[in-house]
Amino acid sequence: MQKYISQLNEAQQAPTLQKDGPMIVIAGAGSGKTRVLTMRIAYLMSQGVDAFNILSLTFTNKAAREMKTRIADIVGSSEVKNLWMGTFHSIFAKILRFEGEKLGFPSNFTIYDTQDSVRLISSIIKEMQLDRDVYKPKQVLSRISSYKNSLITVKAYYNDPELQEADAMSKKPRLGEIYEHYVERCFKAGAMDFDDLLLRTNELLNRFPEVLMKYQNRFKYILVDEYQDTNHSQYLIVRALSDRFQNICVVGDDAQSIYAFRGANINNILNFQKDYDNVQMYRLEQNYRSTKNIVEAANSIIDKNQTKLDKVVWTANDEGPKIKVHRSLTDGEEGRFVASTIFEHKMREQLKNGSFAILYRTNAQSRAMEDALRKRDIPYRIYGGLSFYQRKEIKDVLAYLRLVINPKDEEALMRVINYPARGIGGTTLEKLTVAANHYGRTVFDVMENLDRIDLKLNSGTKNKLQDFVTMIKSFQVIDQSYDAFYLAEHITKKTGLIQELKKDATPEGIARIENIEELLNGIKDFIEGQKEVDGARGALSEFLEDVALATDLDKDTGDDDRVALMTIHLAKGLEFPYVFIVGMEEDLFPSGMSMSTRSELEEERRLFYVALTRAEHQAYLTYAQSRYRWGKLVDSEPSRFIEEITDSYLEYLTPIETGYKYKPRINTDIFGDVDKSKLRQVKPTSGTPPKWITDNDPKPDANIRRLKPVSRPTTQSSNTPDTKLAIGNVVMHERFGKGQVLNLEGVGGDKKAEIKFEVGGIKKLLLRFAKLDVI
Ligand code: ATP
Ligand code: MG
Repeated sequence: MQKYISQLNEAQQAPTLQKDGPMIVIAGAGSGKTRVLTMRIAYLMSQGVDAFNILSLTFTNKAAREMKTRIADIVGSSEVKNLWMGTFHSIFAKILRFEGEKLGFPSNFTIYDTQDSVRLISSIIKEMQLDRDVYKPKQVLSRISSYKNSLITVKAYYNDPELQEADAMSKKPRLGEIYEHYVERCFKAGAMDFDDLLLRTNELLNRFPEVLMKYQNRFKYILVDEYQDTNHSQYLIVRALSDRFQNICVVGDDAQSIYAFRGANINNILNFQKDYDNVQMYRLEQNYRSTKNIVEAANSIIDKNQTKLDKVVWTANDEGPKIKVHRSLTDGEEGRFVASTIFEHKMREQLKNGSFAILYRTNAQSRAMEDALRKRDIPYRIYGGLSFYQRKEIKDVLAYLRLVINPKDEEALMRVINYPARGIGGTTLEKLTVAANHYGRTVFDVMENLDRIDLKLNSGTKNKLQDFVTMIKSFQVIDQSYDAFYLAEHITKKTGLIQELKKDATPEGIARIENIEELLNGIKDFIEGQKEVDGARGALSEFLEDVALATDLDKDTGDDDRVALMTIHLAKGLEFPYVFIVGMEEDLFPSGMSMSTRSELEEERRLFYVALTRAEHQAYLTYAQSRYRWGKLVDSEPSRFIEEITDSYLEYLTPIETGYKYKPRINTDIFGDVDKSKLRQVKPTSGTPPKWITDNDPKPDANIRRLKPVSRPTTQSSNTPDTKLAIGNVVMHERFGKGQVLNLEGVGGDKKAEIKFEVGGIKKLLLRFAKLDVI
C-alpha cells in the first residue's frame, strides 16, 4: 500500500489518509480528485474496513468499473466484488429491489426509460383531450422530472399555489393533473422512471426509520465523485445515509458544474461545510493531466465567471503546443479539417485513434464529423446517440422480456401487443385502457378477465387477446425452469418476431436480425458473469435492470481503437491526448438557448472549461462561418469563448477576422451539392430589401479557406493582376472591399500583401489566392 500512497503528492495524501470524519476535496480539473477517491478506498480496505461497508457513487458505471479494476490491482480482486460502487441510479435501483415492496412496488419493478415515459405522457395527454402543441410530452416530462428531483411530490405540488400559478402562466394549468396521472400509472404498472429511483429512495429512507438505520449501518464509509453535479434528491440521500457515522468524503469542482439544467445544485458543494460538523476541507492545486498552455488557457476562461470559488491550478508539465484555432466556411469543411488533422497526427506521430476526441455542444453536430471521418476511413464511435438498447428491434424483444417479469408493465405491453401484427387494433386497445382506468386495474388484468367484463368486443378479438395472455403466461412458465438466454431465444421464435424480420431482406432488415443475435449473446454473457459472482440468481430481471440503466459510455470496453465523438456533457471526468472542440460559434456554444441570464452564460462557460480541460497534449477549437441548422444554412460568428482565452495561448491557423462584423457572401459553387433553394437570405445592411444570393455574385476569397496548401505552385502566371501590385495601390477585394496596399513581401507563390481595408482593418493576403483589382 505504501508504494501506492507514495505515488500521490502530499496534498493528495492528506485526504487519502484521513480515515474518519466528513471531508471535502475541492479542486480544479485534472488535479487527481478521482485518483484520491480510488486510493482512499484501497487505503480504507487495507486498514481493515470491510468492502461491504463502503459505498462509492460515481458519474458513470464505466468510471466505477475502472476504479474497481485499479483497487483490485492494489488490494486483490476477491474483496473488490463486495464494494458498492456505481451511479446513484444503479445503486439505488438495487436497494429498491430489496425494499421497494414497502412502498407498494414489486421487487421486479420495471425501469421506464425516457422513451417509455414520453409515450406514457403522450397517451395521458391524449386521454385528457389536451392540445399536444401546448402540452408537449417531452417538455411535460422534463417539468415533472424537475419536480421529482426537487422532491416536489404531487401532493406537495397541489399544496403550492406558486407552482400551480407558474404552470398556469405558461399556459399549462393542467400540468398537475398530468403529473398525478403519470405517477398513478407508473405505480399501477409496477414501474419507476429514472427520477423515481431517487425520489422513491428518499421516500423509503424517510418513511421507514428501520430501513434508514439498516443502510446507515451498512455504509459506514461513503464517497461521492463529481459532487458539484448532484441534485437535491441525491443530496438528501447522501445526507441521510451518512448521518450516523459522518464518514463522508465528497470531491468536486464548482467550476465543472454543468448539469443545472437537470436540477444539479451547486449549493450542495458550497454548503457542505454547514451540513456536517468539523468538516476537513482539502484543496489540490497541481494538474497532472494537461500541458501548461491548456491549464493556463482554461484558467483564463474560468476567471471570467463571477460566481466561483477561488482556486489555484498549475502544472509542472511541459508548456506544450498552443491551442489551435481554425475557421472554415461550412460545417462540412470543418469536418474535413478535423478528419485530415487527425489523419496527419496519426501518421506523423504514430498515434492510435483512441488518442482523439471530438467534443460538441449538441448531438446534431456529429453528422458532419462522421461524414468526414468515414471518407478518411478513420474508425470512430459516437457516444450518447441512439444506443444499441434503444433500437427498435432490441426494444421489442426487451419489451417481451419485461412483460414476462412484470405483466403490469403497460408500456411494454402496448409496444408488443400487436407486434408482430395479431389483428389487435387501436379501438380495442382504447377500450382496454378505458376499462383499466375505470376499474383501477392494469390492462393485462383486464385482458385476463375478459369473460367477466363486457367490453363489447367481438369473439374473434376476444380470442386474440386471450391467446396473447396465454402466450405470455407460457413464457412465465419457461422462466421458472430455464435460464434467460433460453427464454429470450424462445420468445423471438414463438412470438413470430424473427419471422417478421426475415420478411425484410434488405441489408437493414438483416442487420436487425443480427442485432437480435447480438442481444442474445449479451444475455448469455451476462448470465455467465452472474454465475461467477453470486450464482445465476434472478438473472433476467438483473439483466433488464442493467440494460435500463446502461449508457453507451458504460459499454465501452476500450477494446477497439476508435476516435471518440460525444457531447461535452458526456465527456466529464474523461481525458484524451488530443481534443477537438468543434462548433465554437455564438448561438451554438454558448448555446442560443442558454444566454438569457448571466448564470446560464456562466454555466456555458463552465462547460467550455470542462471541454478544454479534457485535453492532455493538444486542443483544437474550430468554427464554421455558416452551417446547416434546422435544415437551413445559417451564418455564424466565432464564439466569444475564443476571444476570452488570453491570446498568448492561442495559435490561429486561419487569419483572424477583426470585429467579426463582416460576413462573407457565399456562392453556391463552393458547396457544389448544396440545394440552391435552401440558400440563406442575406440580412439587409442599411434598409435595402433582402437579397437572395445568386450564382452571379462574386466568389469568396479562397485564401481565407486554404489552410495548408498541399503543394505549393512554384510558378505564377505573369499576367495575374497582383504581380503588378505596388505599395500604395488602392485595391478592391471581393470580400473585404476597398483597401490600400501597405507592404509587399515574399516572392513567387509566397508573395503576400499587407492591405489596410476600410472595413475589417489590416490583413495579410497571399496573392496567389487573393483576387484583387487595382482601382
Ligand atoms: P476531473 O476534474 O477532470 O474529473 P480529476 O481531478 O478527477 O479530474 P484525475 O482524473 O484523478 O483528476 O487525474 C487526472 C490525471 O492525472 C489522471 O491521468 C491521473 O492518473 C493523473 N494523476 C493524478 N495525480 C497524479 C500523481 N500524483 N502523479 C501522477 N499522475 C497523477
Ligand atoms: Mg475526476
